Amino acid sequence: MRNLLELKDIKKTFKIKDASDSVVLEGINLQVKEGEFLAVLGPSGSGKSTLLRIIAGLIPSSGGTVSYLGKEIHGVNPGVAMVFQSFALFPWLTVLENVMLGLERKKMSAADKKEKSMQVLDIVGLDGFENAYPKELSGGMRQRVGIGRALVSEPDILLMDEAFSALDVLTAENLRRDLLELWLDKKIPTKSIVLITHGIEEAVYMADRAVILSSGPATIIKNINIDLPRWRNRKTPEFLAYVD
Ligand code: ADP
Ligand code: MG
Repeated sequence: MRNLLELKDIKKTFKIKDASDSVVLEGINLQVKEGEFLAVLGPSGSGKSTLLRIIAGLIPSSGGTVSYLGKEIHGVNPGVAMVFQSFALFPWLTVLENVMLGLERKKMSAADKKEKSMQVLDIVGLDGFENAYPKELSGGMRQRVGIGRALVSEPDILLMDEAFSALDVLTAENLRRDLLELWLDKKIPTKSIVLITHGIEEAVYMADRAVILSSGPATIIKNINIDLPRWRNRKTPEFLAYVD
């Protein structure tokens, strides 16, 4: 499969007042292939979120290149959308309005944006909640809004920054399962998923491949190919089968 995304020799330093620069990432080489689910593991503070923000073009790197479909990216990466650990919803906007924000950069009529967003709400399991406000929703449902906002722009790559770690165990399991099913069944056009996590179990559960970052300055220290027994066979773990 072709590469959707390629990082070459990415470096990131942060300027620290009255101290020498802190080097967070160094010599990161990484490729995301079409159709793969990649997990990025690493200890807290190793630079996982920084790496994802650089991939998305939300912050610049201090060296190296990010390419999407063979073209170097400067600024916002048009091929990706991001899901955040803390959901990052706007509390004063409704569920529908939050999802429509994912289409802000698209040249579409307001009516089309609304229609597309309503379809996505249905896909992520929020049919009927379009006029609710985030504070009226459970954590799991809020993250469904966050996922909907990312999916609505139909990104080639979904970037998830510890997207399940603010949720309780069962809610997180349900959301992981639902997202995997949508993706494996091709109900969403997303080609590849990059999930940042510090949970090895979560990586094994969801991903095809994992890379591990060393603690800072982080570089990739391991590449693991994971053979996925559970979800590829569609066996819902029994203890989850009846949990809503
Ligand atoms: P992770 O997501 O793996 O926990 P982060 O990417 O959030 O790690 O942070 C990696 C390191 O970079 C940490 O030491 C953090 O304090 C530092 N860092 C992140 N953002 C900034 C910033 N804007 N300015 C200075 N240091 C930062
Ligand atoms: Mg982080």
